[in-house]
Amino acid sequence: MFNIYNTLTRKKEEFVSIEKNKVKMYVCGPTVYDYFHLGNARSFIMSDIIRRYLEYKGYDVTFVMNLTDVDDKIIKKANTEEKSPQDIAEIYSKAFFEDIDKLRIKRATVNPKATEHIEEIVSLVSDLEQKGFAYNVEGDVFYDVSKFKGYGKLSGKNIADLESGARVEINESKKSPLDFSLWKKAKPDEPSWQSPWGNGRPGWHIECSAMSCKHLGESFDIHAGGNDLIFPHHENEIAQSEAATGKQFAKYWMHFGFLNIDNEKMSKSLGNFFTTREVLKVYSAGVIRLFFSQTHYAGPLNYSDSLLEASKKGLEKIENVVYRLNELLKSSSSTDNVNFDITPFNIAFEEAMDDDFNTSKATAVIFDFAKEVNRFLDINPKIGVETIEKLRLFLSRTAQDVLGIIDLSTQPAVQSNKTLEDKLIQLLIELRIQAKKDKNFSLSDKIRDELKELGITLQDSKDGTTYKVSEIL
Ligand code: AMP
Ligand code: ZN
Repeated sequence: MFNIYNTLTRKKEEFVSIEKNKVKMYVCGPTVYDYFHLGNARSFIMSDIIRRYLEYKGYDVTFVMNLTDVDDKIIKKANTEEKSPQDIAEIYSKAFFEDIDKLRIKRATVNPKATEHIEEIVSLVSDLEQKGFAYNVEGDVFYDVSKFKGYGKLSGKNIADLESGARVEINESKKSPLDFSLWKKAKPDEPSWQSPWGNGRPGWHIECSAMSCKHLGESFDIHAGGNDLIFPHHENEIAQSEAATGKQFAKYWMHFGFLNIDNEKMSKSLGNFFTTREVLKVYSAGVIRLFFSQTHYAGPLNYSDSLLEASKKGLEKIENVVYRLNELLKSSSSTDNVNFDITPFNIAFEEAMDDDFNTSKATAVIFDFAKEVNRFLDINPKIGVETIEKLRLFLSRTAQDVLGIIDLSTQPAVQSNKTLEDKLIQLLIELRIQAKKDKNFSLSDKIRDELKELGITLQDSKDGTTYKVSEIL
C-alpha cells in the first residue's frame, strides 16, 4: 500500500489499482520538433522513477508515453528548415529515443504516435459529434465545452469564470471561446488525412484521449504530465474521454513541478533552456537523475550549476561505496563473522517512496546508508562475500533499480572521493611506470625527482607505487 497525491481530488489518497497487481499509466510525451530540454527531462525522469517504484512493489506496469508527431510547431520548423513535417518528426523522434536511453529511462511498453492513430481519432470525434458534444463548422470540428457537466473538475476552474476571463477570439466560428479543436480543416501544404468532415488533421488534446483508450482502455490508473498540462490539455482530455465513454477516465492524476531558471519555467518559447544533449556532455545520467530525485516531483526546482555540482559530489560518495564493495568482493573469503543489518534502510526507503514517491527522502536514506557502510568498512576491513552481496543488493534494488542513479555492473572509474591533486599524482605515477617500461629512465627519474621537490615522495613496492605528501603541500 502507498499514498499518491491526486490532482483530481486535491488530496493524498491510498493507491488502489483498478485491476489487482496491475497498473496502467499514461504520460504525455514530447512534441517532436526539437531536442528536448532539461525541463522536459525532469518530467520524463520522474515518471520513469514512479514506474520503476511501482515495479519494485510488484505491479505489472503498462507504461504508455505518446509522441505528438503532427503539430503547428513541427510544421513551422519544417518550413524554416525546408524539410517535410514528416522528416522533422522522424529526426527528433530518433533523437528523443537516443536521449532517453542515455538518461537510463526505461523504454515505454508502447510509444504511440498520433499519425499512426488517425482512424481511432476520427472514430472518437465522430462519436462525440453523434452524442452532441461536438460541432462541425465547415470542416473544423470543435468540442462544445458547455455540454460537459464536469468541465473544470481537474483544474478547479469553472466555465463562467473562464469565459469572462477569456480573450476575445478572432475565430468567429466557435460557439464559445472555451471550445477547442478536435479536428482542424486542412490548409495548403500541411499534412492532412481524409475524414467525414473533409481533409484535415487532429487537434492536440484528442490524440491523447484516443491513444490512451487504444492502449490502456477506457478507464486506467494513472495519468501524468507536467503542471502546464493540467489546463487546458488534461481538462480537455477528461471532457472528451468521459463524454464519449460515460466512464471515469484516469483514476489518479499526477503532475510534475517545473524545472525553472531564475524562478521562470524552462521552456522552448522563452528561450531559457538547455537541451538534455548539452547537459549530458557535462554531467552523467546518474548526476542528472540524482539532481531531480533530491527534490519531490511535485515541487518547483530551480536550475543552478552549483546544485548540479553538489549532486555530482553526492553521487561520487555513493559510487565510492560501490567501488569499495566491488574491490572487497575481488579479495574476500566466503566466511563472515560480522554483520550489517540493511532492514532499517529498506524500511526507511520504502516509507519515503510510499509517501507520494518522496524521492527527496529516499535519496537521503541512500546517503545515510553510504555513510554507515563506509564507517562499517573502516572498522571491518575484511568482510565476507555474503555481507558484501547484501550491501550491494540494497544499492541495486534502490539506487540502481528505482532511482537509476548508479549502475552496479560498471565499476566507477576511480575511487571517486579523491581530489584533483590525487588524480594528477596517480596520472604521473602511471606515466612513470610507462616510462620505465619504455626504458626511458631519464623521464621516470625526472618524474620521481620533481615530485619529490614538490614534497611528494613515491614509494615503490611489489604491490605497486604509493605516495606520501609532506606538510609543504
Ligand atoms: P512538450 O514537448 O512541451 O509537450 O513537453 C513534454 C513534457 O515535458 C510535458 O509533460 C510537459 O508538461 C513537460 N515540461 C515542459 N517544460 C517543463 C519544465 N520546465 N519542467 C518540467 N516539465 C516540463
Ligand atoms: Zn497528452
